[in-house]
Amino acid sequence: MSNKKILLIEDEEKIRILVKKYMEQESFEVLTAESGYQAREFLKNNNPDLILLDLMLPEMNGLDLCREIRKTSRVPIIMLTAKTQETDKILGLEMGADDYITKPFSLAELSARIRAALRRSDFGSLEKEESIIRGDLQINIERYQVKLNGKDIPLTATEFKILALLAQNPGRVYSRLQILNAALEESYGGYERSIDTHISNVRHKIEKNPAEPEYIKTVYGLGYKFDISD
Ligand code: CA
Repeated sequence: MSNKKILLIEDEEKIRILVKKYMEQESFEVLTAESGYQAREFLKNNNPDLILLDLMLPEMNGLDLCREIRKTSRVPIIMLTAKTQETDKILGLEMGADDYITKPFSLAELSARIRAALRRSDFGSLEKEESIIRGDLQINIERYQVKLNGKDIPLTATEFKILALLAQNPGRVYSRLQILNAALEESYGGYERSIDTHISNVRHKIEKNPAEPEYIKTVYGLGYKFDISD
């Protein structure tokens, strides 16, 4: 197996050198970019296995870059942030980052986080090859097919992506913006509420009583989750 390729986007030279040296000792291949623009150019011709993204970059900040990368790629992204405010972390996750680590961080911890994110991403790609079974629902990601008690349920592409996203991670709460970014794979200029309409349509097709959903639950103030535990 070839070494996993990491792209490190960080404007501080000291951190670039330290992280690169350490992760290379850990058998990763490490490529670096000093700015969002440099990273963007690099990504046109390269597909790293994971991205380490500094939040505070000059010119183009890490959040904007993260959102841009997510439009075309599901590569795992770990945010490096100097800030301790909860809002920045949540915002990072909303923009599609998989994890974050607060500076100053230990290189051993960063390495552990990288391995965990890579494992999740490998698992995600394996899972896509078969059906997900949740309660009476059977979801085939490859075929864009949903069956309820063995009966085909016709869903639009958007409805399917939303249902598949939620059902792949039962119990995990998704904000409307996360659903929008992950499921629609393009920018809708913040029309988060349009998700409510799609969710409602999915419910009318799969729920016995859409007003009291058994599969897709509303998490007030946050978003939605797939949950058949109660
Ligand atoms: Ca920085």
